[in-house]
This record gives sequence, structure tokens and C-alpha cells, in this order.
Amino acid sequence: TAAGIPDYIGQEARFGARNYAPVPVVVDRALDCLVWDVEGREYIDMMSAYSAVSHGHLHPRLVAAAQRQLARVAVTSRAYYGTTLGPFLEKLSEVTGFERALPMNTGAEAVETAIKCARRWGHRVKGIVDGRQQILVARGNFHGRTSTIIGFSSEAGYRVGFGPFADGFQHFDFGDMESIKAAATADTCAVLIEPIQGEAGVLLPPPGFFLQLRVWCTENNVLLIDDEVQAGLGRTGKWFAFEHEGIRPDALILGKALGGGLLPVSAFVADAAVMDVFTPNSHGSTFGGNALAAAVALEGLRVLEDEKLVERSAELGAYLIARLREVQAEVRPLIRDVRGRGLWVGVDIDPACTTARDLVERLAAAGVLSKETHDTVIRFAPPLTISHELVDRAVETFRRVAHESHR
Ligand code: PMP
Repeated sequence: TAAGIPDYIGQEARFGARNYAPVPVVVDRALDCLVWDVEGREYIDMMSAYSAVSHGHLHPRLVAAAQRQLARVAVTSRAYYGTTLGPFLEKLSEVTGFERALPMNTGAEAVETAIKCARRWGHRVKGIVDGRQQILVARGNFHGRTSTIIGFSSEAGYRVGFGPFADGFQHFDFGDMESIKAAATADTCAVLIEPIQGEAGVLLPPPGFFLQLRVWCTENNVLLIDDEVQAGLGRTGKWFAFEHEGIRPDALILGKALGGGLLPVSAFVADAAVMDVFTPNSHGSTFGGNALAAAVALEGLRVLEDEKLVERSAELGAYLIARLREVQAEVRPLIRDVRGRGLWVGVDIDPACTTARDLVERLAAAGVLSKETHDTVIRFAPPLTISHELVDRAVETFRRVAHESHR
């Protein structure tokens, strides 16, 4: 190219699969909440890799933990014991309040682990005939991209041409107890649900819904499995989003931020009565719980605690939402809704005005990274380390771009 910079975009397009549609920003380096492209332009990261970079980019304590571990051992598989996995699992038990965890790598793998666990629990503990176990899932869900998981997605784009799909999933409407009761049968072993539907557009549950769901699951001996891959670890202003609902699920799925923004680390988390349906050789992963991942994830949990990032998410999130609502009032009817919890915000755009993607691209050109979900929602989910000053800068940029679209 003109400046002597290799054509990275062309290279990805030529040699990569075409399953993504990236915003045309070539990221070269990043630190905390800032990102720089190959030409040295600065951006505020208001997206943090879909909430995977909650600690900020390259947090010095996480980099140091990785470097310390890289001087010892990185990967041995679960064929042996190690010196970092035990401490990580004990810490995870302390922060989640659950007895056991099964570490995996990606969110989708941890969801698959949850599905397998729920079904075996349904068979072994509840006595459902094997092969008949049913799991209830919400319309509009997002739990990952494996064949099993997309089989119960409501998104045509995720599914068309990818069948045949696995049986054993029944849909209900998110937030609607009656539709859960209607979908359930004697073979129902679990409800798998996001506490806030992220990919669907940061959709909050109606007040009291999770409380009712908790009571119903207990009464019917059905596991309540809470997918907090995106919501967990402080994103919503509490350690876990279920705390907003005053409930405790039977199992928890974590991912994204669990890897401290450095590595893929996920986990399926439950008490022994549920987890112990897994017996030796019934499930596993070569990289899951590897020494390097465990060292980084452990330090990540300590950083969340030491830097009070959960409290910070609550405070800065309320501030971000209030500031975005000021912009909303100025540019009616461009923005239909500003909603969220903690530093996890959806800005709902009136499709009669413009698309979310158009605003996302214009925001990127103006130095703010965000992400559209569907045609109408822009998602802001910055690192939990963000300052008032950077929120102000991002909102001012959004204000300018919104006013341009409003004219
Ligand atoms: N569950 C939820 C709630 C998610 O938001 C995501 C990712 N957006 C996943 C699961 C899948 O995670 P991964 O992309 O790491 O497989």
C-alpha cells in the first residue's frame, strides 16, 4: 500500500474463510482500554472482544503471570496433575460459591459440557430414559457455534444449510414462565438460559422472572443452568448476573473474561451432586485447564478482586448509560432505547433512521470501537478498567456521529 504497509485486509480476505465481516480497522497493538491501528491511529475499545477483555488489554499482572508460567510449563494435558490448576479451581469455587469446576477453552465447549452433564444427570439422577432427556432453551438465545448448539438457535443465518441438528431441545420465550411450563415434559432435565440475552441485543429479563423460574425448576427437579459466558465476572456490575435476580442457579457456565483477555479459558461450574455424573474418561479436552491458562485465569480472578473491577463496572456502567440517554434525548427518534446492566449496554437504533452497522463503522472511523448485533443494536462493553474520562470521550464521539446521522 501507499505507506508501505502490507495489505493485511486483502490478505485475510484472500487466504481466510469468508465467515466474518470485520469493521475495516487493522489493530496493531493495544493497552488497557486503548487500541492502535497499523497507521498509529488511536481508538477507545468500547467492545473488548465481546467482553473477553474485561481486565483491559495486556493487564501487566496477567502478562507477568503468563511470563512466570512460561518459564516453567505451559501444557501437559489432564493426564497429569499440575501446580496451577488446583489453586485456580479453589479460587473459582470461592468466587462462584460452587463446589467444583470443569475447565474448557471456549464458551461453546463449556456449553457442550453443560449439555452433556445435564443429560447424564437427567438419566442417572432423575431416571429419564437415556436418549429422551429434554433441555429447555430460550428463543433468541446465543450459546455458541457448534452443530449441537446452533441446532437450537433461533437465527436462520446461523443454521441454514448446516443441518441435520441434534434432538432434545424445546424452545420457550425469554422472560415468559407460562411458555416454560408449556414446553416442559416429564423428560425435561434442564433449562439452559442466559441471564441477559447478549447477542440478541442486551435484552434484560422482566423483574421477578428468574425468581419464578428458580422456584419452578426446584419444584420440578429440573437443573437451572446459567450461561454467564458474556455476563459473568463483573460485566453486569455484580460478580455474576444471577445475583441481580436474587437466585442461585444449579450450574454456571463461564468463558471470555475468565482468560483475562490473554487466552481462551472457559469452565462449567456446579456442585458435586451435579458435576459428579462425570466419571473418568466420560469427558475431556486436551487444552482445558492447562497450566498456562490456569495461571492466567487465577491471576485474573485476583485482579478483579484487588482492583474492585466489579464495583467499578456498576459505577461506570450507570454513568455510561446516563450519558448515552442524554444523547438519546438530543437525537430523537434515532435511538429507541438505551439499556443494560453494568458496563454492558445496548443502544437500540430506529431502523427507519439508519442501521447499527452504519453507526458502528462511523464510530470506528472517529476512533471508537463498538459492535452491532442484528440490524438495530449497537453494543458497548468496554474493559471494566475504563475511566470516567474515557467514557466521556467515547460518548462525545458517539454524540457527534449520532448528530450527523440525525440530520
Ligand atoms: N454463551 C454466550 C452467552 C455467549 O455470549 C457466547 C459468545 N458470544 C458463547 C456462549 C460462546 O462462546 P465462544 O465464542 O467462546 O465459543
